[in-house]
Amino acid sequence: MVSLHEIVKGVSRTKPLYLEDSYLKEYYCKVLRYVKDKGKRGYIVLDQSIFHPKFGGQPSDKGIIKGKEFTFTVKKVLLYSDVLVHWGKVEGIEPSLLEDVVCKIDWDLRYKVMKLHTAGHILDYCLFKVYGKTINTLSAFHGPPTPYLAYQASIPNNEVLKKIENLANEIIKKGINVVIKWVSKNELKQNIINAPNLGRLPENDKYRIVMIDGLNAMPCTGTHVKNTSEIGKIVISGVEEIVDGFKLFYSLG
Ligand SMILES: [Zn+2]
Repeated sequence: MVSLHEIVKGVSRTKPLYLEDSYLKEYYCKVLRYVKDKGKRGYIVLDQSIFHPKFGGQPSDKGIIKGKEFTFTVKKVLLYSDVLVHWGKVEGIEPSLLEDVVCKIDWDLRYKVMKLHTAGHILDYCLFKVYGKTINTLSAFHGPPTPYLAYQASIPNNEVLKKIENLANEIIKKGINVVIKWVSKNELKQNIINAPNLGRLPENDKYRIVMIDGLNAMPCTGTHVKNTSEIGKIVISGVEEIVDGFKLFYSLG
């Protein structure tokens, strides 16, 4: 394994296109760097990317990067110093510098993750309603095979869990719009509602706020659906007690 530090050295930051449009499935980009790994494996850095990295509770996107004489299967995407590094397997000749390529993400996987991530924000709200205060998350994973949210709170009983699940599904059925908004550091306070984890928010000049009208508005760099109705149904599949709280396992019905 080549170190990410070496791979991104001197290369300019990648424009993350998924932050502006989560529904972008295919896009043209340029190769800024190719670093060989073992065998046919390698790392590609592009000028911009539609591939979401393994970050912020989301698994990395998968898909392909196609050049004139190669097809690169993206198996993992990592974010390092604002540079997106695509790791995978190359078929054909190696990508060359400044080569134009077309990127395609595995849309089935991505759309599932979008639904799961927005469902996670809805569950945050349901916890807020049921517990009567904003509950911090300890960790989260919005991807297959086992999505979960770990909350810093006492473990709920079955009755409370049913309440949370019912409320979540009512919200989904209402068809509420999910809106993305960029705000400056000074505007942050007046633009967030019921946002957990503010204590560990990184220092930035601007923040991307994900707003679900009437529920919550919180800093988040994930990919989300445009309307809660797209989620279909949330099923809470179980809870597990952990140090400082509990894990809530959920899936899409
Ligand atoms: Zn989020």
